Amino acid sequence: MSVWPLKFREMSDGSVLFCDDAGGFFKSSHDFLDRYAADNLTTVDVSFLTEGNHGFDREFDLRWTSFAYKWARRQARPTRMNYVILVPTLRCNLICGYCQVSRAAEKARGFDWSDETLAGVLSFLDRLDGPDIKIEFQGGEPLLRVDLLEAVRDFCRGKFPRSQFVVCTNLQALDERAWAFLDADDTFISTSLDGDRATHESQRTHGSEVTDAFFRNLEAAVSRYPEGKISALPTVDVANPPDFNTLLDNYERYGIRSVYLRPINHQGFARKIQQGDNVLARWNRLHAEFIDCLIARNHRTGRFMEEYYFSQCLKRALRFDADSHVDIRNPNFFASDYVVIDHDGRFYPTDEARMLSRIGHIDLSIGDVGTGIDRAKVDVLNSGAFNHFDPECLHCAYQAFCGTDVIDDISRYGRIDVPRPDTWFCGRHLSLFDKVFEVLYRKDEPARASLAAWLGVGGWDDNMAPTHQ
Ligand code: SF4
Repeated sequence: MSVWPLKFREMSDGSVLFCDDAGGFFKSSHDFLDRYAADNLTTVDVSFLTEGNHGFDREFDLRWTSFAYKWARRQARPTRMNYVILVPTLRCNLICGYCQVSRAAEKARGFDWSDETLAGVLSFLDRLDGPDIKIEFQGGEPLLRVDLLEAVRDFCRGKFPRSQFVVCTNLQALDERAWAFLDADDTFISTSLDGDRATHESQRTHGSEVTDAFFRNLEAAVSRYPEGKISALPTVDVANPPDFNTLLDNYERYGIRSVYLRPINHQGFARKIQQGDNVLARWNRLHAEFIDCLIARNHRTGRFMEEYYFSQCLKRALRFDADSHVDIRNPNFFASDYVVIDHDGRFYPTDEARMLSRIGHIDLSIGDVGTGIDRAKVDVLNSGAFNHFDPECLHCAYQAFCGTDVIDDISRYGRIDVPRPDTWFCGRHLSLFDKVFEVLYRKDEPARASLAAWLGVGGWDDNMAPTHQ
């Protein structure tokens, strides 16, 4: 039998995790590693590898084909454009200390779509094929221009058989027209809730009246709409993190069970924030502690909450098709299935690219609604949009589950060819997948119950995470 190449990584308990290119994995020992490296496998080794589909007898036999199939299914295939992030205005009625979207003052002029830009956006949408579209309204605060949101929504409802709209709003000031816009069943709310009231106020609202208005609107939205209509994200300052249990209590109180814990990112005005030394190591520690806190809390309450990105990485380790999140998939080609259109009608490959361009760091725009998407620029970015041939990723046990982030590399290092292990993206994902596999192999009931809930399966047992002695 020929064994598919195995990549390995020592786990925190001293055992060794082995993974193949198609995402098959098992845990074993240093002794097995020695036998594997010396091509000195025992009959028990061979039988374990055979049963686990880690090898094949001849090309195109059933196990060879099954491995090829699994490898192919793990690749994120470019699909048609069906997700468009729109920034109808850059103006905002809050001044958050780490504003991640490069805002403009509420009364500023020249930061909203002009009539020509709106017409260009609608014309771009009109040229999209397919039965469905998802529109995400970003800002600034998009509800400052409900009229533009209405124009886009009306157009999409007429053009596409299925359409969905997400309004990323700070929920600060909602008039009747804004509430009426949000009331529609095809329209969802995404907001920011930075943990407890005190943290939210110090990071975002900066005053009790403004904080009161936010919580009043959040409570009104929660009582008005069904569960699942509202999602929220906390941005966490690693130098001053909120108490996790209080944060989770607060989210649960508002019926939100999925929390996407995000560090202050490195784009937009946020890059000017000082967060001290070893931010990555401190973030990784904080995130791992959050997962442990979630597992213990889920067990204590019997009500399951998740950290969205951790669940996404978990699914990527165990499933073929966990490609829905644009921050982690491989390849992650730009301007293929989603694109951003800014307040001036310019296209960007991602929202982070828009922020970087806005602060003058680099121009990552890829055309505008008048001239269309500049495919030559997109091709340059796409040259780094996969990890298949990266000399470091090639040897990494997590390659099949991981991805790339060209825009983050440009933002932090001004280039895309920094050795992977020296990048924030790699340091963060090594730690994330270490935690994923640590939790996958935990034998305690609290971890197993959370795992089953996060993966949407009935239960979790030893057979689901194979071990070879
Ligand atoms: S980026 Fe880092 S963690 Fe991800 S596959 Fe490459 S080496 Fe591994």
